[in-house]
Amino acid sequence: MKTDYSDKLFAKAKDLFPGGVNSPVRAFKGVGGTPRFIAKGRGSRMWDVDGNAYLDYVGSWGPLILGHCHSDVMQAVQDALKEGSSFGAPSPREIRLGELVRQRMPWLERMRFCSSGTEATTAAIRLARGFTGRDDLLKFDGCYHGAGDPLLVKAGSGVETLGLPDSPGVPADLAKHTLTLPWNDLAAVERLFEKTGKTIAAVITEPVVGNMGVLVPKPGFLEGLARICKAHGALFIVDEVMTGFRLAMGGACGLYGLRPDLVTFGKVIGGGLPVGAFGGRADVMEKIAPAGPVYQAGTLSGNPLAMAAGTATLSELSEATYRKLEQLSADLAAGLAEAAAAAGAAVQVNRVGSMLTVFFSGEPVFDAASARKCDAKRFGRFFHAMLERGVYLPPSQFEAAFVSAAHSPEDIRTTIAAAREAFQEAVRG
Ligand code: PMP
Repeated sequence: MKTDYSDKLFAKAKDLFPGGVNSPVRAFKGVGGTPRFIAKGRGSRMWDVDGNAYLDYVGSWGPLILGHCHSDVMQAVQDALKEGSSFGAPSPREIRLGELVRQRMPWLERMRFCSSGTEATTAAIRLARGFTGRDDLLKFDGCYHGAGDPLLVKAGSGVETLGLPDSPGVPADLAKHTLTLPWNDLAAVERLFEKTGKTIAAVITEPVVGNMGVLVPKPGFLEGLARICKAHGALFIVDEVMTGFRLAMGGACGLYGLRPDLVTFGKVIGGGLPVGAFGGRADVMEKIAPAGPVYQAGTLSGNPLAMAAGTATLSELSEATYRKLEQLSADLAAGLAEAAAAAGAAVQVNRVGSMLTVFFSGEPVFDAASARKCDAKRFGRFFHAMLERGVYLPPSQFEAAFVSAAHSPEDIRTTIAAAREAFQEAVRG
């Protein structure tokens, strides 16, 4: 596969941007080689600047649940743009998207829009601290909640890929307030709360982890967290930046019957434009300025183009869409598992809805420690063998792949056929 133009652009980019990129995992550090510079996307496909075509299972890391350039989303953004790109004042489009969100999650009494998932989680944490008057926070090893200081402790995603569990630059005085435990271990949470429950403002978790690769919650784990938080006066924050509107109409909260105190969104809610949101209980959310004293703000918050893209995306998502995503993703997961077995590759295919990861491990993968035991070198060979065959997977073992509604059964068959050969290459070494 010719990559001359990508190679040239990457050399230039390294002179402009740290590591040649504007977000770490894009640099292919987890798998080696030159990242492909993308020229355009349509439906389930992307083309790089050298003209190579790929079936895309990254989907901009989750937002593109309808695929690239969905006609309704494009039209909505163009229509909005004609009326102005930003007002810095309230506008009707915020109400439209807000109402769509609440139709899908009626328990969400108040919400606020911002421009990224990081902003949403950072604000939710500040709010939980402001509301409870407590400083400590419990997060789980391997969960990634964006690049905000309090959450860059034992984080997954690029932090894991690059081996930077505790980023320099986060003051120790701040990091000491972020307690961490293994995910899926409810007994450990019980023990911690017995000991120091009175100082913990909130527990934040991904409901299905995507940022360590896909990890599936054990039955009762999420419900147990909610129960423990309630018993100890801590807030339960479900970070649905990745799972919200992806796993089901009502997100993971709908899927698992959760009613957290606060929830955070990003990705799908913006349909590919920069949007984040946080929301939940009215008595908690009313502490946010200007209703209350906890400060949060953003110049481009509620941006009309972003609101339009989010509204068009959520409007298009129906129960039928989620059924289609489930079918395609189940077929893909089964085909990948079968292809791996045929090649003699020991893998675990973890999947919930349209999020999935092929872990190169012979053992079940259910937390950060078991994910770290995977053969990342094998994954790297598999990744490159797939890329060569025109299948673009996340360039790290510790990320989720996403199926979109633009993928066809034929796309899935093509992907599985590529995987049959790619697993053989991965095993050969
Ligand atoms: N929370 C979760 C669960 C995420 O997956 C991400 C992004 N991958 C974030 C927060 C941060 O979102 P953003 O990159 O939009 O800041």
